Amino acid sequence: MRAIALTADATVRVEVSSLVLLPGRGNGLRTGVDVSEDPGPGRTLADMSEESLLDEMFPLLARGPAVAVGPGDDAAVLATPGGSVIATTDAMVRGRDWRDEWSTGRDVGAKVVAQNLADVAAMGGRPTGVLVTLVADPATTVAWVLDLARGVGDAARTAGTTVLGGDLSSATNGTLMVSVTALGSLDGRSPVLRSGARPGDVVAVAGTLGLAAAGWRLLEAGRTDADPEAVALQRCPAPPLAQGPAAADAGATAMLDLSDGLLRDAARVARASSVRLDLHTARLAADVARIEPTLGGAEALECVLAGGEEHSLLACFPPGAPLPRGWRAVGAVHDGEGVTVDGRPQAARGWDHFDAGNSGPPD
Ligand SMILES: [Mg+2]
Repeated sequence: MRAIALTADATVRVEVSSLVLLPGRGNGLRTGVDVSEDPGPGRTLADMSEESLLDEMFPLLARGPAVAVGPGDDAAVLATPGGSVIATTDAMVRGRDWRDEWSTGRDVGAKVVAQNLADVAAMGGRPTGVLVTLVADPATTVAWVLDLARGVGDAARTAGTTVLGGDLSSATNGTLMVSVTALGSLDGRSPVLRSGARPGDVVAVAGTLGLAAAGWRLLEAGRTDADPEAVALQRCPAPPLAQGPAAADAGATAMLDLSDGLLRDAARVARASSVRLDLHTARLAADVARIEPTLGGAEALECVLAGGEEHSLLACFPPGAPLPRGWRAVGAVHDGEGVTVDGRPQAARGWDHFDAGNSGPPD
């Protein structure tokens, strides 16, 4: 599968090797803001938070008139004459995002697809197809690659979507990287952004909290028998994909998927919406109780508040709006900024890709 050009729908053409999205009236791309400031040649990625790095990168990227929602949310939205297309991409790297002794090729394939489809759902959309790029050391076994393909295919089928194509590329010794690009449809809905939360809204979650992080801790401790469900969720998340469109239909004002931890991701909504999100521990008690028998109360609470890779959905709903089935209230939106727990400020924590303090891969 090399540089396959294909037609995703009548109005958007995707060239897989470089992901050029061509809307019906030409791409009209232009270079963004000219940043002439000295970038600081001595800095490395380890010196930056993911957010500060992205803040510096976004102004440098080309942005065309067909982009209804650009970088900075869970997925981009492209306007087309016939409607819009959701587009998002996410990669996994061996040694950083998975360990071979913990995860099979099938686990990795299913996980990278699930991560992408969670981002489509978080916009209020339904997946319409995925593109897969594999960059691999030639010594990689064919069996591993076929296992990966099985995982990708299974996850796509389960979500009711298809694999549109992809790319294979060789890499230096030991390198193994899988990247997925997912496309989706809003089916006429408006995208649900991170920036729409308003004081008075209810903060709600669909899906589990903290289980993937608990699974990581059990894998690390060699205690996989203690909670096989949590370990399975760490190896391969199960995002509540149908809850994205359901939340959009119920009037959700803001939404994202929980990839880097409840506190860190809630802070992203707070920042984008210029509000404060307050989480209520009483509403999280069942999530903590689910993990407490294997890890103890303090660690269980930390998993729930800061555990990454869950890919459940967090959304805000207008006051008084009935929550769709599968959603539960966990807090409220207030004037102010940041995230509080029972009204108390919290230090930001959770997963950050380039944080030098990360002791190893999250899985
Ligand atoms: Mg996301």
